[in-house]
Amino acid sequence: MDPFEYNANPGRVVFGKGSIQKLPDEIRRLGFSSPLILSTPQQVSQAEDLAKILTNASIEPAGIYTNATMHTPSHITEEAMSFIQDKSADCVVSIGGGSTTGLGKAISVRTGLYHICVPTTYAGSEMTPILGETQDGRKTTRSDPKILPGTVIYDVDYTMTLPTGLSATSGVNAIAHAVEALYAKNKNPIISLLALEGTKALAESLPEIIKDSNSQPAREKAQYGAWLCGVCLGSSAMALHHKLCHTLGGSFNLPHAETHTIVLPHALSYNAPAIPEAMEKLASVLPGSEGDATKGLNVLLEKLQVKRALKDYGMKEEDIDKAAEIAVSNQYPNPRKVEKEPIRELIRRAWAGEPAR
Ligand code: NAD
Repeated sequence: MDPFEYNANPGRVVFGKGSIQKLPDEIRRLGFSSPLILSTPQQVSQAEDLAKILTNASIEPAGIYTNATMHTPSHITEEAMSFIQDKSADCVVSIGGGSTTGLGKAISVRTGLYHICVPTTYAGSEMTPILGETQDGRKTTRSDPKILPGTVIYDVDYTMTLPTGLSATSGVNAIAHAVEALYAKNKNPIISLLALEGTKALAESLPEIIKDSNSQPAREKAQYGAWLCGVCLGSSAMALHHKLCHTLGGSFNLPHAETHTIVLPHALSYNAPAIPEAMEKLASVLPGSEGDATKGLNVLLEKLQVKRALKDYGMKEEDIDKAAEIAVSNQYPNPRKVEKEPIRELIRRAWAGEPAR
């Protein structure tokens, strides 16, 4: 066996349908009594639902702040910070996807308030000590153990309303975390097991969700997969795929999960010659792969009926060169050398919507 190092991120997980009913006990167990609830404007009703559950259990929320926004813009964090200034919150409860989790992390790391997270997408941010924040259109990312939420409640009931399109792209975003964990410079056998189990759970459940978005078993399996893939993201050094998506999202304002979905098969096929073992393992958990993991991803995306071209999200053809330039300007560990011409071709294919080969 190759030598390796393994660090477990400390965090408590409460998983299962109806587990949100345990929120009051979780808050009491930690010795808190006055939670601040966070959501996006689109998920106000879920935030109010949590407030009702707490009030019924004689816990009065300190307030509900419902303006969480994608990529954690600093002016929103500042607005939320002034919102809580005159409230006596002693912990934060975020309900939502990566955007709301991001705001919960931003507040928690600034104030030291304990963060209980209720994820409603498959993005996996709740399992990471990573926070990306945007100021004047520039996104900076930092990692700090204090950023990791303390408790995560996975209740499938709060994912049932996730639109099928977003379920598909959010789920593939999660698979991307697992894929890159399999060939990360700090890979280890424990995280690799989680990566394969998480990918398998998502690759099996996401097509079921597309067929029947009300399928609770499929939604629960997807949430389980997303959890494991989130652990992979929080424990591994990400490489080409995540760096490219970061560049594309940050520089050309492309949507997060959709960009991950389009780029993943291309990034995998770029690295394929350098990662035969990871390719073989991945292929074994991707239905329809016939021994080829890139094909397995293409088959999955076909089943999920997702858009395959970055140009569909507004990226311009003249941005391809600029994206390739930015992508190679910072070198980082990647199994295959990141070189301008092949990277440009990768981006061009993703822009045009040509399937990865
Ligand atoms: P999101 O949180 O922005 O959600 C997208 C939209 O779907 C929002 O309007 C949201 O309110 C809505 N939504 C979420 N769950 C829903 C549900 N169950 N029912 C109905 N509507 C629902 O999207 P996301 O993809 O989860 O998160 C993206 C953000 O998270 C990005 O800013 C990304 O950078 C960040 N992220 C960070 C990490 C990390 O480790 N730091 C990991 C993954 C993603």
